[in-house]
Amino acid sequence: MFKVIEKCPLCGSKKWSKIIKNNKNIYSFFLAKILNLNEHYILNNLKNFQCSNCTLIYKKKWPLRKYIKKIYSDHQPNHPGGLNTLKKNFGKKKLISLINKYKDFAYNKNYELCEKSKREIIKILNSTENSSKNFIKIKNYFIEKLNSDNIDYVNKNYLIISNMIKKPKIYSQFSGFRSNEISEYLRSTIKLKNINSYAEIGCPLWGNYDYFKKSWIKRYFIKINEVNFWKVDRKKKENCIKYLQKDIKVASNLNKIDFVGIYNFIDHLENPLRLFSNVFKDINYYGLICEDYNLSKKIDCQHFSSWNYKSLSFLSKKIGFKIADKPLRLGNSIYKYYILKKNDK
Ligand SMILES: [Zn+2]
Repeated sequence: MFKVIEKCPLCGSKKWSKIIKNNKNIYSFFLAKILNLNEHYILNNLKNFQCSNCTLIYKKKWPLRKYIKKIYSDHQPNHPGGLNTLKKNFGKKKLISLINKYKDFAYNKNYELCEKSKREIIKILNSTENSSKNFIKIKNYFIEKLNSDNIDYVNKNYLIISNMIKKPKIYSQFSGFRSNEISEYLRSTIKLKNINSYAEIGCPLWGNYDYFKKSWIKRYFIKINEVNFWKVDRKKKENCIKYLQKDIKVASNLNKIDFVGIYNFIDHLENPLRLFSNVFKDINYYGLICEDYNLSKKIDCQHFSSWNYKSLSFLSKKIGFKIADKPLRLGNSIYKYYILKKNDK
């Protein structure tokens, strides 16, 4: 079921210093179903280890390729984090439709879909930008009642709470990775005039294409076949690629690109170094967004690795780059933005 990873995928050292446990989430739930094993047993196998040499956190056991494939083909074929950045998936209307679905599923005793709509409702509520004490109190109480399936309470109160939903929190799943703060950071670190091409890899929807929308910049999306990630496929019913801006070209491999944005992607890769040697050839800058364990205090079981300043410095050195500036913590989120600059730039 699992393969064993003997040494650090970044530096090759076999020494490790710390073990970090995983929490249950939807992916441990899927894996339990696919492997027909107890969820705790799976989480225990997917524990995280920190390399004593380069500080990369990685998993020493990892599900075989065919099982990972199943997650992204059968169980979670659509990328919620990408599609949720579309306006139609957030707001009062969306919440009301989810509540109605929840009530139907609860009434028909469809446990799995009932739990799914609950998770989606809670995700919207927790991603709502509204810091008033009143909202937070009402929201927390509503979530508590929803979690205990108090349908009467939900029925009487969902309109009140849905009227309080205006816009999503910055850097929440419904906003993606674009903000004035990121634009400001890019402006202070790189000269846009020197950028003639910009590409992103991973999800076509949650990145920062708009900042690079200039008449002299060609924009691309790099499509690769990564097993531990959502598939990019125009033939699928709901797929992020269908909403990519029309003038952004899709390519599978590009020789020269000035700036590549890699947002929340390298933590999915079993062999991160291969990305930098096989897919990318002549790049001047990388913009990387990584979840920071010291901020999040968690590592999700579907993420193969977790990166910090030290491991990213190690990676930079190995590929002939250096970290350009102090990384930017995105708002008060769990993410940091790093710019890697080619050594001769
Ligand atoms: Zn290492």
